[in-house]
Parts: sequence; structure tokens; C-alpha cells
Amino acid sequence: MVSCSLKIDSGRTDSFIGTDYSTMVYGVKPFEGNFIAIIGLHAIEDHIGAPIELYTGHFEELCRVLKEYGYETITFMDLLKYVDFGKALPEKPVMITSDDGFQDVYTNGFPVLKRYGYKMTVFLVTGAIGETEASRKTNAYFNKRTNVIRPILIWPEIEEMHEYGCEFLSHTVNHVRLGLVSDGEFLYELKKSKEDIESHLGSEVLFFAWPYDNNSPSKWHLIPEAGYRGAVRYGTGIEDMRTINLYDIDRVEFNSYIPPAQYVGYLNLDRSIKIEFRIDNEYKSGKYVKEAGEEFMLEYLINNTNDNAVKISSLELELPENIELIEVDSGGYINQYPGINSNIYMWVSDSYTIAGNGRINLILKLKGKAPGESIIKFRTTYKGYYINCDGVKVEIKSKV
Ligand SMILES: [Zn+2]
Repeated sequence: MVSCSLKIDSGRTDSFIGTDYSTMVYGVKPFEGNFIAIIGLHAIEDHIGAPIELYTGHFEELCRVLKEYGYETITFMDLLKYVDFGKALPEKPVMITSDDGFQDVYTNGFPVLKRYGYKMTVFLVTGAIGETEASRKTNAYFNKRTNVIRPILIWPEIEEMHEYGCEFLSHTVNHVRLGLVSDGEFLYELKKSKEDIESHLGSEVLFFAWPYDNNSPSKWHLIPEAGYRGAVRYGTGIEDMRTINLYDIDRVEFNSYIPPAQYVGYLNLDRSIKIEFRIDNEYKSGKYVKEAGEEFMLEYLINNTNDNAVKISSLELELPENIELIEVDSGGYINQYPGINSNIYMWVSDSYTIAGNGRINLILKLKGKAPGESIIKFRTTYKGYYINCDGVKVEIKSKV
């Protein structure tokens, strides 16, 4: 008797011949979503000294919501194997990255990562990395004008995190603006830092982070010569794998300005509530042009992609100064006029229930007051988190 048992997971495919004909398939669903949020942060501190730093408690909250929504961390090596060989990624991949190599990534961040079973990619300024405690440097090494002095990682800490599964890549030797230096200096900064990390850790360094976000397309032709496959920057948000440019990988910037209640919406983690909009009964994308004084209709459709009914607790509309709300159409599911708080129109109720795979709507009559281009923002609160709708771009033209 011949049988076969097949085991599939996101990392590999194994099969073996067993004693009967049963076939068993299990494991996680592969990545099909196209979008990968690559989180970019700097220091992780209990008492932050600059907005660019993130509170340890907020980092913990970030990992907690990622876990709650079923996200798994991947590294740039995983990403490259996906790009080159189609190696499967987990269904919901996410990347956590940190620039500059602050010691607090080890002291404050690493315990949190271990608790959640998460990995992180750290971009090191290798000239600032000491061998021992006695030779530990600070960020003054690469930022003379810094007003927040923080200690930088040393190799034993990096080796411990690397052993666990964290990834260490280049942020140059001296944290230089790579777009402004000579070609020779560009190659030195990248080759030397690559060599430093590879000789300490024994794993390949194929990506770097542009210091100061100084991404420079005029230097892209030197990237392969320096021994790299790509580079990351602080971009406009979540990477779309269908259009990714490896020399210009977008990250979502994380700092202390972002309230933790917005993490889910900011990273678009929850795909179970989707908000669409249409203007004057038409769905289209791009910019809408209206005349000053002209009334137009904007309808928001809040879709529940769950099989079960869900409740949302509030809706928020943020109108630009040159557009006013005339009325809420009584034909919509939500038909009351909103409360107003700090220029935000708010609908709050415990009775906004959306049936499984159903939708509810809100129809607004708006009017352009003064010429100008602006964006109408809209979001809903679900399970205590914001779910954002894409901004509606409207240009109000003066009346001719
Ligand atoms: Zn930096």
C-alpha cells in the first residue's frame, strides 16, 4: 500500500510517503494581499527626548495589535526570497525596522519582541558600534548637533539579537547623506559597513537604509556595485508588492505623534471593515472639481466583510475649511446631523450594526465655499480602533 502525506506551511513544502492513502494538508495560508507594512522607527525609550522616539509602552502596544490581528514579522531576506524565488510569505506579513542602532532597541525593544515571538530589522551605523561596554559610543558619533544623546548598541548585544532571529543591515559607516557624497565615498560607506556586519554576524547584508531619508536616484546605479540589492526610506506608507522598487522601499514612519488608538488604521491592519465613497452617485478615483457655491453629494459606504454582524461605535468626518456640510440625507442608514467637536463632525451610537457581508451608508450634502484644493477625511471606530477611508480630493474652483 502506498500513501502520501503532504504538509505545507508558509516556509517550506514537505512531503513523505506514509502507510495509507490519506493526504493531509495543514499550515497557514500564504500571502496574497499584495501590501506589506514596513514599520520604520528609531529609539524605543521609557522617557522620550524627541518626537522621533517611541515610548516603550507604545512599542509594546504596536506588537500587541499586530499579534491581535494575526500579523507575523518577516525580514528583508524573507522579502528577497519572495521577490526572487516566490518563496511563500505568511498570510499577513509585517516588517518592524529601526534606524541608527540605539541600545534601547536591545534593552527596551528586544524583551517585547521575544514576548511576542517577533523579529526586527535594525539598520546599523557601523562606525558607532563598539566591541565592548568600555568602547560603547553614543549617537553624537553621527549627529553632532543632537540634543538627545543616546547610547548605541555594541556587538555582543547585536550578536544576541541576531542569534534570536533579528536582522542587522546597513545604515552606512558614518551616517552620511548618500545622495550628496562622491561616488567613491558612496561605495566606501556601503561596502565597509556591509563588511563590518557580515564579518561579525556571518549573514549577508543586501539592504541599507538611506540616512536622513536622502534617497538619491542618481546614485542607484552604484547600489549593485556596492554589493546590495536594495534600500529603504521613509516613504508614503505601505508597500505594494506589485509595484515595489527595491532601491526605494517605502516605510511607514512611527513616532510618538501617532496615538496607539490609530495604529490599526495607520497600518491598515484590519481588512474586515472597508469604507468606500462615491460622489454624486459615481465611484471613481482621482480629483473631483466643483464650483464654489455648488452643492454635491458624498456618500460613504461602510462594508462589513465578516460573515457575522459587527457593530461600529462612531464615525468621524473632517471637512477642510473651504467645504461645508449642508445636510445629512435622510435616505441613508445614518441620518442624524452629527455633533461637532474641534471641527470634526462626529456620529456616536451603540446601534450602528452592519449585517454579515452587508453595508451601511451615510449620505452627505456638501458645498464648496472658497476656491482651493483640499481633502475630505473620514473614518470609523471599530473595536476601539480607527479604520480610515481614502481621502477624497476636491478642488473648488471660483465661479465663472
Ligand atoms: Zn539614521
